[in-house]
Amino acid sequence: MFQNPLVIDLAEKYKPLWALESSGALLEWDMETYMPLGSSASRGVALAETQLMKQERILQLVDSVSKVDKSSDVNDTERGFIRLLKRDIDYYTKVPPKLLEGLYRTATEGTVIWREARQKSDFSLFRPYLEKMIDLKRQEAEKLGYKGHPYNALMDRFEEEITTDDVDRIFSPLASALRDILEKVLSAGKFPTTHPLEHVKYEEAAMKRVNEDALKVLSMPKRTFRMDVSTHPFTTSMSVEDVRITTRYEGEDFKASLYSTVHESGHAIYELQIDPSLDYTPLARATSLGVHESQSRFWENFIGRSREFIKQIYPGLIANLHFVAGYSEEEVYRYVNSVKPSLIRVEADEVTYNLHIMLRYELEKKLIAGELEVSEAPSAWRDLMEKYLGVRPRNDAEGVLQDVHWSGGLIGYFATYSLGNVIAGMFYDRIQRDLDLRGAVARGQIGKIKDWLKDNVHKYGATYSPKELQKRVFGEEYNPRWLIEYLQDKYLT
Ligand SMILES: [Zn+2]
Repeated sequence: MFQNPLVIDLAEKYKPLWALESSGALLEWDMETYMPLGSSASRGVALAETQLMKQERILQLVDSVSKVDKSSDVNDTERGFIRLLKRDIDYYTKVPPKLLEGLYRTATEGTVIWREARQKSDFSLFRPYLEKMIDLKRQEAEKLGYKGHPYNALMDRFEEEITTDDVDRIFSPLASALRDILEKVLSAGKFPTTHPLEHVKYEEAAMKRVNEDALKVLSMPKRTFRMDVSTHPFTTSMSVEDVRITTRYEGEDFKASLYSTVHESGHAIYELQIDPSLDYTPLARATSLGVHESQSRFWENFIGRSREFIKQIYPGLIANLHFVAGYSEEEVYRYVNSVKPSLIRVEADEVTYNLHIMLRYELEKKLIAGELEVSEAPSAWRDLMEKYLGVRPRNDAEGVLQDVHWSGGLIGYFATYSLGNVIAGMFYDRIQRDLDLRGAVARGQIGKIKDWLKDNVHKYGATYSPKELQKRVFGEEYNPRWLIEYLQDKYLT
């Protein structure tokens, strides 16, 4: 923990900032779950004002941070604390308020228009906002500065120190391995492309009991964790002792609700296992989006879609969803592991998911470099879909308009989903060797896996950068080999 008196003093000064962030998280959680529909305008103002207060306060810490920065007498936790503050200060110093305001306004307006455009499947409505957003993002990259590709400046906000060279190195072998696996899975027919269970309707109350049963299997704590409902599931943390997830109920194809719950629980386990002594500091969060996503995908796919996990939840499934009783554990396993090239990223399976990400990465990189015009994005999207997945969207709603990210200015974000899968593969290999992961799941010893993750990763919060953390745990960073081997082993043998 903190020992250097200058750092202890700085941590006290940071506390109001933590309180603003914690309050903002609660406002956002409420907005997505229980807020009356008509309250969005005032909530938007409240959130924007908290944001401004945060920026002002962080810049007031400049002198104290530079004083500590000169001191060599710091431990790892203190170094991490300073690193994170410097990242925030650097951002708000370099990006002028006018640009920030433009980004914020374009995101708010653009998101409203994007919803309409997607509903009408009419890209021309969204196009001017996306053009504006790409222009602002290019300005942001210029202000922030970068080595190599301007896209590096944008990705760094979500995944510290990641570059296009890194991502190209990771994606290139992954893309060819995935296409090879996909082709073989489809021709072997061992895993179905569709399953009758996809069309069976369920009662929401019964599905809720299934999800609660899954939370029990994952030993989610009762006093510091809760689950609610929202259209797009998410996890949020108000503090180490208040972590919340949401799930969704579409009324059929129960695996969607079940695996949203398991996915978000994976994010929550990370947040809940951060060392409580880091609370009230910026260290009490995941170190990057990629590492955060590695945890959710690890629980959702590597554990959640394994035969061993199905065995654990099968009694809860047949007790609550009576129609499942007509299917064996093995049938349920095949249902949750169906593989099919599809148009929509959020519905994609383990084998095809990363191909959806590669498409977005390729497009964004070109848009930011000015090698592709926004007006060309819909047709470029269709061509890349065909190249990567062999399917072609019939309209822009199932093509270029499907994801919310661009409207909100989250450009440079998508790659972290795949980086998460890559890191999850590294965890799978490592934990399997360290403590027989699959055996532990089969025996219901989920606690052993959680403890391993806590001791090696979670307790540190954001103390180490994602690259430092991986080097400490694995001795290497972002190696796609383990994900590829896991998929080959699962789907081709
Ligand atoms: Zn996630």
